[in-house]
Amino acid sequence: MSDGSTLLGDVLSRMDEAAERLRIDRDMYKTLRSPRTSLTVTFPIRMDDGSIEIFTGYRVLYNYARGPSKGGVRYHPAVNLEEITALAAIMTLKCAVSGVPFGGAKGGVTCDPSRMSMNELERLTRRYTYMILPLLGPDKDIPAPDVNTNEQTMAWMMDTYSMLAGYTVPGVVTGKPFQLGGSRGRSYATGRGVAFITAETLKRLDMPLEGATAAIQGFGNVGSNTARFFHEEGIKVTGVTDLSGGIFNNSGLDIPALLEHVKRERRIAGFDGGEFISDYQRANERLIRSKVDVLVPAALENQITVNNAADVGADVIVEGANGPVTSGADEILARRGKVVVPDIVANSGGVIVSYFEWVQDVQAYLWTEEQVNQRLKEVITGSFSRVWDKSEDHSTDLRRASYMEAVEKIVDVTRLRGIFP
Ligand code: NAD
Repeated sequence: MSDGSTLLGDVLSRMDEAAERLRIDRDMYKTLRSPRTSLTVTFPIRMDDGSIEIFTGYRVLYNYARGPSKGGVRYHPAVNLEEITALAAIMTLKCAVSGVPFGGAKGGVTCDPSRMSMNELERLTRRYTYMILPLLGPDKDIPAPDVNTNEQTMAWMMDTYSMLAGYTVPGVVTGKPFQLGGSRGRSYATGRGVAFITAETLKRLDMPLEGATAAIQGFGNVGSNTARFFHEEGIKVTGVTDLSGGIFNNSGLDIPALLEHVKRERRIAGFDGGEFISDYQRANERLIRSKVDVLVPAALENQITVNNAADVGADVIVEGANGPVTSGADEILARRGKVVVPDIVANSGGVIVSYFEWVQDVQAYLWTEEQVNQRLKEVITGSFSRVWDKSEDHSTDLRRASYMEAVEKIVDVTRLRGIFP
């Protein structure tokens, strides 16, 4: 569904525009246009049938002027260096907007985890961790889960790093199981953050929260937890899709029952609480057309493009995924009066609670779930307010305002630190 623009191209041109508007010193800004470190690794894995497969993985530390770099690890057949670089740049901007003291990174392995066993995934994760080891460390670069990776993946990464260090280092990854130093509330933090941001946006737009309607693309970590918190807030979810298809019910889906179903079956298909469409592309088309108050793309990048932006039925688009709306689509949506809440604000709940997890690990002192959720709310709504106010001050949209906020902060720190040597 691409419209020819690439995620990296979009991120760079959005940063360029922000730097120009801010009249930032060109030399200082140059430091933000390329990644500091890009590592590509190729490694063999023994498969369960005894054969050997060669995999390619990446870790890009885009920028660490503001602190250790932070970003997820993605397992997907489409993973490539350019995509990982773009996602690492987005992480850099996201950490700056939300104010957590981290730079940005991203990693991934080109693979199809749906065709791999747990044992194969464990061997892949451990070998990938070993291959990127020189970059990792609680004060250097701290991975977290992303598409097709989870708490178990982080446990294997933490164990591999610790075995090679000779002692246990919980702070080297976030999004770990609670028993290993994970934070309460991390597993659902991104979805909770999306729900906080949606509530704030509706408030600013004078749209009622109770009884608002929503459609969600993707029902993994981000999509399913967004649905859960929307349901708790009284937002009616009328459609969701994943790779197994989409389910629609104008009276509102029974979200607790759907969550139970997906926990058991690992996909939406088979849930009978609405009209089911098994072709996920057709299901996505219908989802994007849905006349709802809020659309949350929470699957992958480049989902709303110049080809379908004119079809978007929602008034507000809250980016649960990274990069789901292309620059070309942004312009069409703006002309149609749609409000887009950008990824670097909307889905920052994950990295904010990852920061809390890292703080708890380095202090070896655990917070309660209430403390985590309260502090998440404070940080994410504070970031949203700064961006909203900036968009009003500069008469611009939320994406441009958030990029201005982020670029300004990173360049400011770069100027203070100076250029080495
Ligand atoms: P996940 O692997 O848990 O879930 C991905 C979901 O998207 C699955 O339900 C899958 O079936 C579905 N999907 C994939 N392609 C689709 C398509 N074309 N149409 C419909 N559904 C599709 O991944 P996740 O962690 O929920 O991440 C989703 C997005 O959110 C990614 O862009 C990721 O970078 C971003 N994100 C994740 C986190 C986090 O904490 N996990 C934080 C911030 C941003």
